[in-house]
Amino acid sequence: MNRVAVLGATGSIGTSTLDVIARHPDRYQVEALAAHRDVAGLARLCARFRPQRVAIADTGCAAELSSTLRAQDQANIEVLAGSEGLDQIASAGSVDTVVAAVVGAAGLSSTLAAAAAGKRILLANKESVVMAGALLLDAARRGSATIIPLDSEHNAIFQCLPSGYQRNPDACGIRRLVLTASGGPFRGFDRPQLATVTAEQAVKHPRWQMGRKISVDSASLMNKGLEVIEAHWLFGLPADRIDVVVHPESLVHSLVEYADGSMLAQLGPADMRTPIAQALAWPERIDSGVQRLDLLSVGALHFEAADRGNFRCLELAYAALRAGGAAAAVLNAANEVAVDAFLTGRLSFLGIAEVIEQVMAAVVQSDISTLASVLAVDAEARQRAGVETARWQSRTSGSCNE
Ligand code: MG
Repeated sequence: MNRVAVLGATGSIGTSTLDVIARHPDRYQVEALAAHRDVAGLARLCARFRPQRVAIADTGCAAELSSTLRAQDQANIEVLAGSEGLDQIASAGSVDTVVAAVVGAAGLSSTLAAAAAGKRILLANKESVVMAGALLLDAARRGSATIIPLDSEHNAIFQCLPSGYQRNPDACGIRRLVLTASGGPFRGFDRPQLATVTAEQAVKHPRWQMGRKISVDSASLMNKGLEVIEAHWLFGLPADRIDVVVHPESLVHSLVEYADGSMLAQLGPADMRTPIAQALAWPERIDSGVQRLDLLSVGALHFEAADRGNFRCLELAYAALRAGGAAAAVLNAANEVAVDAFLTGRLSFLGIAEVIEQVMAAVVQSDISTLASVLAVDAEARQRAGVETARWQSRTSGSCNE
């Protein structure tokens, strides 16, 4: 029996993970669950999956969670709180597999804890790789942890690599990686069109059902930019050997090109349960519950270049990867603040890239060799992004109010 902890249990990845787990009660047992602050959602999952422990990241919600569990006759479930609570669950001896599906920088600490404790990590929290790739890989190596990416693109690449791949592309004849992008809801838009798009439009993704933050990242192509950085750390290729191609059908999830001219791709329906089932069962294969892909009804697959001129976030991510050091952590923090400002109507869609670029220019690179130093860079970039967002507002408020 594989004992699983799901961090980010009430979100989109967590829900899909629990759907796959529920199909295989003979193989998987939910040992622990964690969420940010959705007490009702977490309590419902406790009633269904009966974990030993739960953690709620927002400490202010812990008392309510405890009393809700008592009310549903589950006072025996241990309740933990705060970032430390998530770390405890991620590193507990009673857990074999950690599903790291917390959104954003908030997931870094627990992902590192799981790595140090030698878990099998099913990694959906791409921000932790982007912020602290070297730190995470080092912790995983020292703790003998196994990282299997859940991000559909990286999971596809993982499936197309030789087994036992050790981050050495040249030894395996790998020429480059090709990440596919759906292009998001604004594919083909020019700048005047992008200038007026709303948060409501941005979160309506044409192919994937996802959380709000990643939906905006997907619309701006920042998601693909973060994925380029993620691919660099996970697979050991430099920026100039990681390409992005827009593939609107979202059925080819990514490709690996080899020295002999072969390109290996993984195809499947746009449903996260496929990479989740692959990562849970690897190296075996299990049913994920997804609909089968009918190639005859698909008929044709299309590929086009990404529009890096109008979708500047992708270019900024490449620049951060090339710059190295703390640049990717700065990019990530600025993006989280800018996306939040966009979702709450304080920044325009095009303003997201503007704010990120200004923050990247303003925050001086510094050390990111420890968790504390990464968090310090993250905090400084967030503070600066707040300033730049306010400045953007004051610059544009005249025209918006007229
Ligand atoms: Mg992805």
